[in-house]
Amino acid sequence: MSELKLYNSLSKEKEAFVPINEGSVGMYVCGPTVYSDVHLGNIRTFMSFDIIYRYLKFHGHKVRYVRNITDVGHLVGDVDEGEDKIAKRAKLEELEPMEVVQKYTNGFREMMRIFNISDPSIEPTATGHMIEQIEMIQQIIDNGYGYVQNGSVYFDTQKFNDDKGSYGNLSGRVLDELLTETRDLKNQSEKRNPGDFAIWMKADERHLMKWKSQWSEGFPGWHLECSAMSTKYLGKHFDIHGGGNDLKFPHHENEVAQNEAACGCAPAKYWLHANMLLMNGRKMSKSDGNTISAQDLFSGKSEHVSKGYSPMVVRFFMLMAHYRSTLDLSDTALLAAEKGYKKLMEAKRFLQQVNHEETGSISDVDKRANEMVDGVFDELNDDFNTPKALARLFELVPIVNSYKDNKPTFRDVSKQTIDKLKKCFSDVLETIMGLKDDQDSEASGTDALDGVMQLVLDLRQQARANKDWATADKIRDDLAAYEIVIKDGKEGTNWSYN
Ligand code: AMP
Ligand code: ZN
Repeated sequence: MSELKLYNSLSKEKEAFVPINEGSVGMYVCGPTVYSDVHLGNIRTFMSFDIIYRYLKFHGHKVRYVRNITDVGHLVGDVDEGEDKIAKRAKLEELEPMEVVQKYTNGFREMMRIFNISDPSIEPTATGHMIEQIEMIQQIIDNGYGYVQNGSVYFDTQKFNDDKGSYGNLSGRVLDELLTETRDLKNQSEKRNPGDFAIWMKADERHLMKWKSQWSEGFPGWHLECSAMSTKYLGKHFDIHGGGNDLKFPHHENEVAQNEAACGCAPAKYWLHANMLLMNGRKMSKSDGNTISAQDLFSGKSEHVSKGYSPMVVRFFMLMAHYRSTLDLSDTALLAAEKGYKKLMEAKRFLQQVNHEETGSISDVDKRANEMVDGVFDELNDDFNTPKALARLFELVPIVNSYKDNKPTFRDVSKQTIDKLKKCFSDVLETIMGLKDDQDSEASGTDALDGVMQLVLDLRQQARANKDWATADKIRDDLAAYEIVIKDGKEGTNWSYN
């Protein structure tokens, strides 16, 4: 079988994957900023890295996967000045900032569970690592790459670039260009150069989230948390750093600079960037209003889709594109994904229950099937190419079906081949792609669901009897999010799937 190759954004080439320490892999992925519900775009990025995590484990590596939670320091507009996204939300919702963090962290974890995205090995928070961040800032100052102005600390990009010549290597941005295009913010005057960025910000009295430090009462810059937490849990130099494409600049570029300035070496050997989920050709984004919630996609209650789709169909849809390509969410593509998902799951289900007798002889069909199975893994080894791996699996379906239909040529397929196909479908679809069979969950959930639904309908009946229309309507509307419709008739109320 081929070796695993991955596209390194740093070298802009596909490279063979050779872990720094044989057998164990350290991977850091920038996690969510927990100030609002995650959208499907965020989910796509975390799903892309879930596949990478799963595949590395499948290859036998022991992976320490660190995915942080950003709960402070990410300012509106991703710049060095202005309101903290979480503090802004706290004011809006009349909550403590930490209540906002808890609420959206819970929501994020729930989404990860629904889409069967694996938990990381460590999920550190920025607020839980203030000491490490302050220490790193001090290290950057001590090494001559940070300077203090009015209680804030800035990273000296010009000096860093003069000494190391590497600022911009990851993103391809040139420092000189940055100097002219940087926005005219209030605290620009504190900087030696407009391309410098804040690593510690002095907070004013109204600022809600602040910590004591040797420079001022303030908070760390957004980029710093990832440098401090990746170093703490994975060491100064680790294997993989990932995140969405849109984080390449300034977030990842500044992370690299901070790590090199503080620790003297580049943090990651391989940088992996996942591409964006689009809707109507534009990046899905909360701030632009160009988004559809996962719940709306499940219920079909949106102008963008003709019906509801299960989380596993949505997962399949996302895997039908390579993680480095953009993916446009559309009803047509979701319908195709649903068809494809059902077809492959059906083949997997058949293979799981088949009990094949040994034939002994190896036929041409055996040879072809074996080559095709190897082909599936060749695609995955080629920078985790899930769409091509799926295409190869689809090519295997006719062999499975011919065997199922007892076609003459397929009658004497050997036991080894059937076992190989069985293992391939289950390894690829379940273990690597994380796809659960909707039919399994439907079967096991049916009995419990019947009982729960009876209870819910009784409660709604009570609400109606009390003329509490608001509660009765809420129950009906919220159930719709799970594709459940309830109908009030002469014989009482019953329910069904949409
Ligand atoms: P945020 O919570 O904004 O820091 O984003 C969390 C992750 O989602 C980051 O890795 C972003 O790059 C990623 N992301 C944001 N929007 C999209 C999108 N439309 N498609 C794919 N990934 C996205
Ligand atoms: Zn980060």
